[in-house]
This record gives sequence, C-alpha cells and structure tokens, in this order.
Amino acid sequence: MGPISTGSIPQRFLSASALIALMIALVPPSALSEPPALVKEAGNATRSPALKVALPDKWLPSKGRQCYRRGKYRGFCEGPRRVPAPHGEAAALAERLRLGEIKTVSHLMLKAPEPEWVEAAGPDRGERLLWPVVGGKLWRGFGKVRRGPKRKKRHKGIDIGAPEGTLLRAAKSGLVAYSDNGVRGYGNLLVTVHPDATVAFYAHARALYVFPGERVERGQIIGEVGHTGIARGAHLHFEYRRRGRPRDPLRKRGFEGRPDL
Ligand SMILES: [Zn+2]
Repeated sequence: MGPISTGSIPQRFLSASALIALMIALVPPSALSEPPALVKEAGNATRSPALKVALPDKWLPSKGRQCYRRGKYRGFCEGPRRVPAPHGEAAALAERLRLGEIKTVSHLMLKAPEPEWVEAAGPDRGERLLWPVVGGKLWRGFGKVRRGPKRKKRHKGIDIGAPEGTLLRAAKSGLVAYSDNGVRGYGNLLVTVHPDATVAFYAHARALYVFPGERVERGQIIGEVGHTGIARGAHLHFEYRRRGRPRDPLRKRGFEGRPDL
C-alpha cells in the first residue's frame, strides 16, 4: 500500500480545544511518549469552525493488543479494543433488537437488515454518502484491485489512508448495529444500518465513540482512524452493503466531500 502522505491536514478542521480534549481523554499517560499523528501535526487549527466531538465517558475493557503469534497473520493485532460501554435507553434498544453481537455482523454480511433495525434507523432523507474521514486519501478501490497471489480476491470495500487518530465521521445517518472488536481481521469495527437498508462497515479504528442502539447523524464524529486488525498502516476500510452484498461506494453518486480528487 506504500507510505501515506501526511499532507492531508485533517487538523485544519479541528479547533485547538477539540485537540486538547482528544489528547487528554484518549491518550493514556503511558502512550504520551509516542503522540498520535493528529496531536503531533496540530498546527494552525483555530481558523476553521470547531468540530463537535462527543467522547464516551466509559469504555469497555481493552483486552490488550491481541496479536497473532503464528500463521499468515502473525504480527497483526486485533486490539487494543477501544469502544464505549453501552448504557441507557440506546443499550436497552440494542438488547431488544439483538444488536451488538457478532451474529448481528454475520447477518449483515449475508442478507438485508431486519425490518425493525431499518425502522429504528430513522426517516429516509435520501442522503448521499459523505466521505467518512476528516481528510485522508483513497489508497485502494473496490473489487479486483489486488496484485500478486491475492489478485482474484475481491476487495469488499475501499481503503482510505490517513494518519492514526484522524477523525472518522458517519457517511450516512443511521443506527449503530455493532461497535466492538470481535470480528476477526476488522479490529475495532463499527457497523451502521441506514434508513434505506444499506449498511456501512468502518474497520481498523483506533477508537470508536458510539455504541449499539445509538443513532448517528451524517457527519457526526464516530471514532478515529487506526490500524487494528489485519491492516498495514493506518487507514479506514469502508464497506458499503445492500442486502448483504458489498457495493462500490465510489460508483453512482459517489462521495460528497472527498478531499483528494
Ligand atoms: Zn480494505
């Protein structure tokens, strides 16, 4: 995938106070010797309007780095898990609708979401996909884009490269169906169901800010780019599915707000 450019300047969208809040809330003291890219690159960030970033106040246990010790995935790590602890009405809704389980994800990889999930996702406003990273650039497209021994294997999504810690935003409004670390290869994974019955997967995140049963608004900050799971370098693997089948999100209407064209 090659080295990524750090010239995508996500920091120009952030206010200084949001950066400080992120730094305090997300970086454990032991990690401060290696500050995340977002903090390292913080520059003249005050010119643009502040992004609203609502950080979770409670996290689920981290489970450590969970690295593969043998086999072809040796050296890759699924963790650390960094996802919020579900609570309140949204958590009750998730339990009632059986969201947040690995079963929920396998369902959405195979078939259409349950009608009650779609209904709970809110009214269909015919939204166009929003570029799901605050900055970043396209590394790899959809379909048969690989070379070498994996060339026959379809890439089920697109990869957007960005420095670790770059903010992720919801591509469409909808309902959080999954936000956890239990699907092999995906690392910290967020799955959302939308009112038009499409589904989005946001994989390899360093942290996620929303939990199952919560509703997200298009453009809402939902987490941070990372390289958890089977990922070479920090990037977002974004999958867009209809009736379980992966679709190319770059086709048809494509993304609004893509910065690298
Ligand atoms: Zn990918």
